Amino acid sequence: MNEQSAISCLKGIGEKTEKLFQKLDIYTIGDLLRHFPRGYEVYEEATPIAEIEDGKTATITGAIYGKVQVSGRANMQVTTIYVKDVTGTLRAVWFRMPFLRNTFQKGGVITLRGKVVRRKGTLLMEQPEIFYPSASYEEKLHTLQPNYNLTAGITNNAVIKAMKQAISYLDLSQDFLPEDIRFRYYLAEYNSAMQGIHFPIDKEEFYAARERLVFEEFLVFILALRQMKEKNKKSRNIFLFESIDPVNRFIQKLPYKLTGAQEKVWEEIKADLNGKHVMSRLIQGDVGSGKTIIALLSLLMAASNGYQGTLMAPTEVLAKQHFESICELLEEYQIPFCVELLTGSLTAKEKRMAYERIESGQAQIIVGTHALIQEKVNYHSLALVVTDEQHRFGVKQREKLAEKGNTPHILVMSATPIPRTLAIILYGDLDISVIDELPANRLPIKNCVVDIDYRKTAYQFMKKQIQEGRQCYVICPMIEESENLEAENVIDYAKTLQEEMGDSIAVAHLHGKMKQVEKDDIMQRFGKQEIQVLVSTTVIEVGINVPNATVMMIENAERFGLAQLHQLRGRVGRGKYQSYCIFMSASKSKETKERLSILNKSNDGFFIASEDLKLRGPGDLFGIRQSGILDFKLGDVFQDAKLLQRASEAAEYLLLEDEKLEKPNHQNLREHLQKYVQEGMLETTL
Ligand code: ADP
Ligand code: MG
Repeated sequence: MNEQSAISCLKGIGEKTEKLFQKLDIYTIGDLLRHFPRGYEVYEEATPIAEIEDGKTATITGAIYGKVQVSGRANMQVTTIYVKDVTGTLRAVWFRMPFLRNTFQKGGVITLRGKVVRRKGTLLMEQPEIFYPSASYEEKLHTLQPNYNLTAGITNNAVIKAMKQAISYLDLSQDFLPEDIRFRYYLAEYNSAMQGIHFPIDKEEFYAARERLVFEEFLVFILALRQMKEKNKKSRNIFLFESIDPVNRFIQKLPYKLTGAQEKVWEEIKADLNGKHVMSRLIQGDVGSGKTIIALLSLLMAASNGYQGTLMAPTEVLAKQHFESICELLEEYQIPFCVELLTGSLTAKEKRMAYERIESGQAQIIVGTHALIQEKVNYHSLALVVTDEQHRFGVKQREKLAEKGNTPHILVMSATPIPRTLAIILYGDLDISVIDELPANRLPIKNCVVDIDYRKTAYQFMKKQIQEGRQCYVICPMIEESENLEAENVIDYAKTLQEEMGDSIAVAHLHGKMKQVEKDDIMQRFGKQEIQVLVSTTVIEVGINVPNATVMMIENAERFGLAQLHQLRGRVGRGKYQSYCIFMSASKSKETKERLSILNKSNDGFFIASEDLKLRGPGDLFGIRQSGILDFKLGDVFQDAKLLQRASEAAEYLLLEDEKLEKPNHQNLREHLQKYVQEGMLETTL
């Protein structure tokens, strides 16, 4: 048995469980090993009862005080005990476990570990893990237990059991990090890294393991990026962009003046379009900085010169929104270009007709999702491809287009707030333009960080805004374990909120599990103000533009990364109205308050992300979510900025010494890299 073996080779994994694991993209033992924990339970020393906090996991030790009580209905019996230490007493309850009555003895010393919750004003533990007699906790003390992403039907314990076996089949020959690199950068060995990431004995072991794995993740990413750059050595620009008047007239007619930063970027693009080589440019600009209009100007430029231009968005909702706003603008300014929408959810007939119009050249501006680069699409004269919101246009796609006889200009738009030094590493193959200025008419968003007691007041406030004609978003409490639960949660929340808001206000919900047509329908109705409150998961975070929405309320704000919160906040404050962002947090902890208050102080995405990093400190990684910038499995661009830099240096060194990675000691790396590129990992990360 080795890392390539199917997981069904492991003890305890039958056909049924194997299918479940496959849902998590785990097919082989190697896949399983790379299913890294999303956090760890830390078995800390017991906390004095007087010091436990609502919403936090704690361990307490004390004597069972008074009688063990069992109450409730036959099928829902509640067992209650009181545990007392020198600082106080805490109630603990278990459901459907009446047999505990015979286990516990009055006066016995017990240790409990679990989440502390507040019910009717008092703190208690529900269903805590039991260590009785108390001494049995010693074994666990100071150990770390991994928490994995799961799917319905697979428990954390099942993954742990499988993982322990998988680790014993670790195959050192699968290590693709060359030894010279490992020595040069003092990185842990493969087997100890795997052991240390899944079952660290202490935090030190975890850090060493993580460092090594993040390093190799970055290294492969950077090497793949280099390959892409090599392949795409800038092609000659075969297009002519002579006609510019229609675009200038359009700019004149806009209801606002372009900001200085927009002007500057527009000049850069124009120069590129008429340059010797085709453009590959990244536009970085914070949320709301006005990237879309720059994209549109570029598309108009293509159309005015007799070419086709496409705008590709990461989601159908966003594609549709772009399509509609472009159509509106063109109609308003009487620009007779033909705009086409192409997404996966069109009917077969609609698609066929769209393909025809694209092939004949009748369609001049084509907006859509990845459907735009499907094989069946043949362009008449494609000269420009714009991608919105981080969806990088990967090597494969470029090759596909090249096969169709085109090497179009490429423009990538991103709101990812990363500093220039990192951007150069991460987007090495692109020129970078920055829109570092917000439109002047914007009122700064008013923020507040509040606890859940404020919820009712927040609802009242939303009602008032709605009466004034505005709209609101509510981001629902986050559930990490499963997308299904998250969906249920959104539905329940929306129901409760509807009751709260009354019949005259329309509340709707949105989550990732909904069908595309349903999502579109909701977004469309929200855009037309038929819906006043949209309760959603974070699916709403990218790109949505409804300038009439003025309130963004985020439940469980403490569970999100600040960069993500900033993106969410960017959905409001997009028009002329004063906008508000309410960060609701159930946590009473001081650090959480401090972290969230950074959002209060600044609206600058980059500042926020770097402050977040400072505050967390590089050491404190347990259970904290990643900043969500670029989709690395383990690494985080901010948190691990130094490692990223070192990996970039290592890539340089490797290629200098062995440009094609042909040496025997680089063979594993070369093969892994090939697989990485083939599987489209580069594209999904970017
Ligand atoms: P993002 O950069 O987040 O994609 P958008 O392009 O969606 O931002 O722009 C947000 C809003 O700002 C839109 O409603 C757009 O019409 C408006 N806008 C863009 N540029 C300007 C400007 N120079 N002055 C005023 N409003 C602008
Ligand atoms: Mg946008």
